[in-house]
Amino acid sequence: MKILLANPRGFCAGVNMAIESLERALELFGKPIYVYHEIVHNRPVVDRFRKLGVVFVDDIRDIPSGSVVLYSAHGVAPAIRQLAAERHLRAIDATCPLVTKVHLEAVRFAREGYTILLIGHEGHDEVVGTMGEAPENIHLVQTVEDVDRLPFSSESKLAFLTQTTLSVDDAEVIIRALRRRYPRIQGPSRDDICYATQNRQEAVKELAPEADVVLVLGSQNSSNSMRLAELASACGKPAHLIDSADQIEEDWFTGTETVLITAGASAPEENVVECVEYLKKALRCRSRKPNHSRGACQFSFAPRITRRLRNLTDSRIHFFSAGFSSRGGFPKRCRNRLIACNTFGLLISHRSKRRRPGKSTSMIPIRIVNTP
Ligand code: SF4
Repeated sequence: MKILLANPRGFCAGVNMAIESLERALELFGKPIYVYHEIVHNRPVVDRFRKLGVVFVDDIRDIPSGSVVLYSAHGVAPAIRQLAAERHLRAIDATCPLVTKVHLEAVRFAREGYTILLIGHEGHDEVVGTMGEAPENIHLVQTVEDVDRLPFSSESKLAFLTQTTLSVDDAEVIIRALRRRYPRIQGPSRDDICYATQNRQEAVKELAPEADVVLVLGSQNSSNSMRLAELASACGKPAHLIDSADQIEEDWFTGTETVLITAGASAPEENVVECVEYLKKALRCRSRKPNHSRGACQFSFAPRITRRLRNLTDSRIHFFSAGFSSRGGFPKRCRNRLIACNTFGLLISHRSKRRRPGKSTSMIPIRIVNTP
């Protein structure tokens, strides 16, 4: 039996950033660190941090006053930030910049008087956070049938946004239905489905025809992992969404010649390696990696921040008021000390590691939005 490894797969830039932020927060502040919701939707990752002293909560009121709280990659509503400030929490924001982009679009559309139709899954942490930006102005749309039921006239001032981790094909169907019913509807220049969701889906679409069975590493509550499994099923292949190798059942592979393995954006590579090793041992598989890669992306400081960081000398923590982008690099002179920067106030970062030759260096944007 042959194993085909999809590429890209696994951790995206936003998940890397959130995990590194939490690791740095543990180093800087010690345990316990509280995280509002799961840092990323992956059971092995969450279990690892639990063992390190991280406490995951679903209610800010469960966090003792004055503690350190970190917001997960999925983002939070302004009401949560407000609640954290009232409880004098030191809040570190590890929201993925691509989720923040959707929040900002929601704020802009609401300010301009649009009613926003958010395409997404009810109850997902990201959707809850985005809807919280303009609760009076946002309606959730989950299906084409929801579009038919909308109470607005074709003359209404409407805009749409999408959750970042949807199925590209499903979202397109809903967007087409919206445009048909509301020809004047506004939207982002492209949908908001992020690069990581899109290119992992493209890889599965491309490679699934070569496989008899598809294994998707990821948790049941991970939206983009679920979409990969659904996509493989839609290609007519039996697909299994698993957290780790110990969930593999050997009878899935009866009569199988090729198995495709991929991983959602929140699933660690070590779990993929574990699965490959298991299959090699248990079923005498050999593995092959497709030679295309579209996965290397890391968030790094905007050039504007980089210029300011060059002027830093000795102190460990600095205050900035600036955003970040996916362009620019981390200044060499700053790599060995803690650096602070964020969109709203303070960010604490640390030495940058060059991950891939020729690619930009990583950034660890820990945003502390309210400091005591
Ligand atoms: S899946 Fe996309 S939006 Fe979500 S954390 Fe990764 S890059 Fe950001």
